[in-house]
Amino acid sequence: MIFHVLTLFPHMIRQGLGDSIMGKAIDRGVITLDVVDIRTYTQERHGQVDDYPYGGGAGMLMQAQPVYDAHRAVTGGKALRTVYVTPQGKPFTQKYAREFAREEELVFLCGHYEGIDERVLEEVVTDRISIGDYVLSGGELAAMVMIDATARLLPGVLGNSLSAQEESFHNDLLEYPQYTRPPVWHGRSVPQVLLSGDHRKVEAWRLEQSVLRTRLARPDLYERYLRKQQLICRLSGDKRNHIHMTESLKRGLGEILADQDGEILVYDRDNRICMLELQCTQHGGRTLAALETEAACDRIKEPAGESGSTGWEHLTGKIPEETEWCLVNQEPLVELLQKEGYRIFNQCSQFLYTLKEPLPVGHRDIRLLTMEHIEYLCTHYGEEHRSYLQERIESGSMYGAFVEGVLRGFVGLHGEGSIGFLYVEECCRRQGLAGSLEAYCVNRQLERGWIPYGHVVQGNVASQVLQEKLGFYKAGKTFWWLEKKPCN
Ligand code: SAM
Repeated sequence: MIFHVLTLFPHMIRQGLGDSIMGKAIDRGVITLDVVDIRTYTQERHGQVDDYPYGGGAGMLMQAQPVYDAHRAVTGGKALRTVYVTPQGKPFTQKYAREFAREEELVFLCGHYEGIDERVLEEVVTDRISIGDYVLSGGELAAMVMIDATARLLPGVLGNSLSAQEESFHNDLLEYPQYTRPPVWHGRSVPQVLLSGDHRKVEAWRLEQSVLRTRLARPDLYERYLRKQQLICRLSGDKRNHIHMTESLKRGLGEILADQDGEILVYDRDNRICMLELQCTQHGGRTLAALETEAACDRIKEPAGESGSTGWEHLTGKIPEETEWCLVNQEPLVELLQKEGYRIFNQCSQFLYTLKEPLPVGHRDIRLLTMEHIEYLCTHYGEEHRSYLQERIESGSMYGAFVEGVLRGFVGLHGEGSIGFLYVEECCRRQGLAGSLEAYCVNRQLERGWIPYGHVVQGNVASQVLQEKLGFYKAGKTFWWLEKKPCN
């Protein structure tokens, strides 16, 4: 990812981001820091870039021309997302960091003195973002804060890809307390459970501590966390048909965009997946008759109003613009989404593993895959999925089976959390290797307190048989993955 920084103090940025994790990421070429000195673009003879504000007032203001020219030079006319760091902006949060991490290039504009002439801001800025309710002398520190928080989410920046996934603000919780050697310091012992070696107990203790800390320190976050837990609890009444939503919420991937009037919309922002549901009872065929609320019922039964409105807009209107995929298990929703420009990608069954016991893997050499295996994955899963596979490897989600030291098959977790990618080379089939791979993947998820689940495309009998053999349960409903059709 390329971070362009427009500043009057380039040295500050280079120095501030030149060490430690950011410095190493720059040295390794994982991120590129393009620092641009706005002063070099001024047309004033003495290098002047600021002037007195019209109407009077304290201090100087950065002029429009050098900022505009510096921006033009960086973007070359491309429409790049451009962030003006300003105390007047929206508060910077982890959510913004995650959103920024999805961009390929990002421009940061740092103000100084009293700020920047409004006219150029109106022309080049796409976002105004603040790092807090206080006023700094310049935007450089703010830009560095945002770059650091964004870059550490990028694959390959942190040594351990899981570290960024499980920190404070993940899943609306603050992180649990951590301890390192020695086991006793100043007469204080490390909590016994952390020395037990029991992964599941450790996870449970950490979650409990996180919840406790969040409740005390950040009641606002705790409130959101509770809302999620309440929905998870409700949906768990019919776990098989809702595991895609409950695991998405539980793993901190999904957020609730709607949970009222019998409508549920869970959005996975990182993966741009929308999971929708109308809480209703089906009465034969595709008619949704008995809905939980009359209001929702009327909208569905009488879709075409006099105004030409379908009556569905309220629901589709809640789907974020950038959504690429929808996952539903109600046929009327499929039709609705098709009208909205989505096309059916596949029709599948949802399977979940509800037991707590790990599955036997057998004496297999199964390991986490690294970037050295990317070519193998592309060859066998599809070259067109290269960047997705790369991202999956870098997030520590792909496992490979080695036979006599040679990679012969793989399995992995999709971005939204379902098990998938299962592949075994022809020469190694019918030896239980696929089962071992999936069992291995299941066990890694159980260690994290997750419920493993997956989708099997209808008609893939071999995979259905494997799921059942491993002890997975099949959900009663059919599931549809829908993909947004590219606009022509
Ligand atoms: N006169 C401006 C106001 O009252 O909104 C403040 C200008 S401040 C002294 C100079 C520059 O520092 C701003 O243009 C902005 O780029 C940066 N800055 C100051 N505080 C900031 C904050 N809390 N978050 C992000 N940037 C900030």
